[in-house]
Amino acid sequence: DAVLPVPPATRIITVANQKGGVGKTTTTVNLAAALAQGGARVLVIDLDPQGNASTALGVEHRAEVESVYDVIVGDAPIRDAVQQSPEFPGLWCLPATIHLAGAEIELVSLVAREQRLRTAVEAYLAEVDEPYHYVFIDCPPSLGLLTINAFVAAREVLIPIQCEYYALEGLSQLLDNIKLIQRHLNPKLALSTILLTMYDSRTNLANQVVDEVREHFPAETLTTVIPRSVRISEAPSYGQSVITYDGNSPGSLSYREAASEIAHRSVA
Ligand code: ADP
Ligand code: MG
Repeated sequence: DAVLPVPPATRIITVANQKGGVGKTTTTVNLAAALAQGGARVLVIDLDPQGNASTALGVEHRAEVESVYDVIVGDAPIRDAVQQSPEFPGLWCLPATIHLAGAEIELVSLVAREQRLRTAVEAYLAEVDEPYHYVFIDCPPSLGLLTINAFVAAREVLIPIQCEYYALEGLSQLLDNIKLIQRHLNPKLALSTILLTMYDSRTNLANQVVDEVREHFPAETLTTVIPRSVRISEAPSYGQSVITYDGNSPGSLSYREAASEIAHRSVA
């Protein structure tokens, strides 16, 4: 396998879209796996109480397991909660358990409630022996305090957009939120990447969405488009990314291509 270039400093990328089912988790897990396969050290932070990213990466996330909840609501260090994914030696996950479902409310009354993830991530990145090249944060489908914590902890936002009707609905709200975060909480945050997912070349609609997104975001939108693929949707039930589940499937190849584009893009 071709080895991908690695960034000189850790890239922290939040995968966000307040719509559910658009491919946030699928994109997080498969990009992370593809980059790890390419030789990078990658941490996935599962910030969705559903814990789908933890499931897909094959890591334990029963209620008893130490998790991202203990990190942001308690003051547990990330080092105590991270688990190595069985997929690749360089792939790690900070899992989400069911406890995270209450975090949105518990956070409200905590000091520095918007900065808790950033503080924990900074402390962890400063102490690890081998630096991470990428940290991906998989967001829940809302713009609440968990997603705000992700925006404050990150430098980059990656928005997956489903090639379907209503794909662009809600996008301006998301962009407004990013601007608010930039102004008040994290001036370094930038929308770096848009990835079109669940593309079906047989529909005119999918092509219209692709054209429209490229027109609005020519610099951010990756050339690679992720096709709709059964193999992609099957992989999580085996606790695997599609990269290891079916490495030569079109879904795997497209996520590897997207990962390569991201790796070759440098960020200022
Ligand atoms: P989100 O995290 O935004 O809620 P998911 O990544 O969980 O979205 O995807 C929603 C559903 O669509 C899941 O069942 C997933 O397996 C499926 N899915 C995601 N991407 C694809 C794809 N490219 N082809 C087919 N199914 C997909
Ligand atoms: Mg998800």
